[in-house]
Amino acid sequence: MPERSHSKSLILRGIPASPGIGIGKAFVFKEEALSYVFRALGRDEVRKEIQRFRTAVMKTRTEIIQSRDKVLKVLGKSHAALIDVHLLILEDALFSKDIEKKITQELMNAEAALVAVLDNIGRTFSKLGDEYFRQRKDDIMDVGKHVMRHLLGHTGVMLSQLSERAIIIAHDLSPSDTLSLKEEFTEGFATDIGGRTSHAAILAQGLEIPAVVGLKDITSQISTGDLLIVDGNEGVVIVNPSMTTLENYRKEREVQLAQSRELEKIKDLPAQTKDGHKVILASNLETPEEVKAALGHGAEGIGLYRTEFLYLNRTHAPTEEEHYENYRSVARQMLPYSVIIRTMDIGGDKLAPMGIDGFGDEPNPFLGLRGIRLCLRYPDLFKTQLRAILRASVEGKLKIMYPMITSLEELREANRILAEVKRELASKNVPVAKNIEVGVMVETPSAAMIADLLAAETDFLSLGTNDLIQYTVAVDRVNENVASLYNPLHLAVLRLIERVITAGHNAGKWVGMCGEMAGDPSVTKILLGMGLDEYSVAASAIPKIKMILRETSYEEAKKLAEEVLRSKDQEALMKRLSNPKGA
Ligand code: PEP
Ligand code: MG
Repeated sequence: MPERSHSKSLILRGIPASPGIGIGKAFVFKEEALSYVFRALGRDEVRKEIQRFRTAVMKTRTEIIQSRDKVLKVLGKSHAALIDVHLLILEDALFSKDIEKKITQELMNAEAALVAVLDNIGRTFSKLGDEYFRQRKDDIMDVGKHVMRHLLGHTGVMLSQLSERAIIIAHDLSPSDTLSLKEEFTEGFATDIGGRTSHAAILAQGLEIPAVVGLKDITSQISTGDLLIVDGNEGVVIVNPSMTTLENYRKEREVQLAQSRELEKIKDLPAQTKDGHKVILASNLETPEEVKAALGHGAEGIGLYRTEFLYLNRTHAPTEEEHYENYRSVARQMLPYSVIIRTMDIGGDKLAPMGIDGFGDEPNPFLGLRGIRLCLRYPDLFKTQLRAILRASVEGKLKIMYPMITSLEELREANRILAEVKRELASKNVPVAKNIEVGVMVETPSAAMIADLLAAETDFLSLGTNDLIQYTVAVDRVNENVASLYNPLHLAVLRLIERVITAGHNAGKWVGMCGEMAGDPSVTKILLGMGLDEYSVAASAIPKIKMILRETSYEEAKKLAEEVLRSKDQEALMKRLSNPKGA
């Protein structure tokens, strides 16, 4: 139950998804109900009705172009391409001609003609049953909705058109919704559903937007215009705060900003313990736009480049050239550091139109055709990405990492395809860097249990704890109902992590971690003591983790890790680790 701190204000508790404090007016993002009435026209009204329809189309066009320009400015070309699709639909003769024909010949008012044509298109596309066409249909319906709003004189705001700073309140934000949030206008966001490691939460961290998820029914408790505080550190949203609360939070925000500025001072110092043990502190990347923040916070490389953004918010899989341009640019910008490109991990909570029949209709997408499974099932898709990575490899220091590996066979099959692509490029005299490191994400319990075998056949291992935790403790990472069971400190998880690090080291390979756990300050020392070689974290988390590492001695950390691993009482361990002095 929400708590009322006084008559008007309300405190809602959820799951902290992205740190920081946001203060501002709420914008409740809800699908609008666009109801219209059917009206039979007199012959003499046709011309005026067509004019009315054309005006609505014109207004929609202006609106789409405006949002395209904003997206282009903030998020770059690849995201603006989504909006181009909407313009093309609007300008498609079939769309407008059919509607005007209905107005003229069947004497329908514009709203009814629009709905009739949309229904028709919807039925035709549904019959095709292909994911590509389903996405296409959604785009057409979206454009139709814009036109309908103008016909009805509604001026509701769409997420991508937000033009003043606000806190976005939504039932859910998909990774593609989150990508369309513009940093400059987003003070924070809060959603009904979701978990700490849902991809929307991870994107929010990348964009440094404070966020709270899993609030259950915030959309029904808040109205657009309510004054809100989003506390992404504690996972709390305060609605219509008292003057005192507001003042306290403003001060706290200032303190946190001052602390971050203080932490930035160690940006160029090594990630090294008091007794000289050095580790690599790298950054995760969700979009190429984040490279600047990674370098700005002192990242010594990219430990995980999630390439899925290339596939989201569009109607078809990206071309080899798009992949290539992207990787080349990131590789160059990150020199002299290396960039680990994770081959696409579409599936789970990240669905994209891949032109594959039935894809996306799975009852358990996290246990379905995801990551390397999808790549091995559709090798052409995989080869396109691998070719682009290999071509870009001469422009910087690129490494390749496969997601969702569960067996040695998958690793070998992926490597076989990689070797094939290398041979094809060599036969065409396309230059490729020598000795590109290839690693495996250890994010399934099966991979963790055979980490020794995987390590023997790869150059490195990287612990993907977001998934490793969900699969080990059987807790869906995006389900707020079981979020309290999603425990990185579960002894099963800690034991698996230690096992993987030891297996990697025994095979002479380095072991990193690129799940959110790597950026959690409460476990930094334990991971250090277990021997983790590389931490790859959200750019904004780098200074804090570096500070902890620099204040710790490796010898102390090893003792702590040993004690933790010997622990026989989960509850006592949790208590001890929640008290920072204890760790
Ligand atoms: C992970 O699972 O920990 C990981 C880093 O991959 P993702 O969050 O993209 O699934
Ligand atoms: Mg993962």
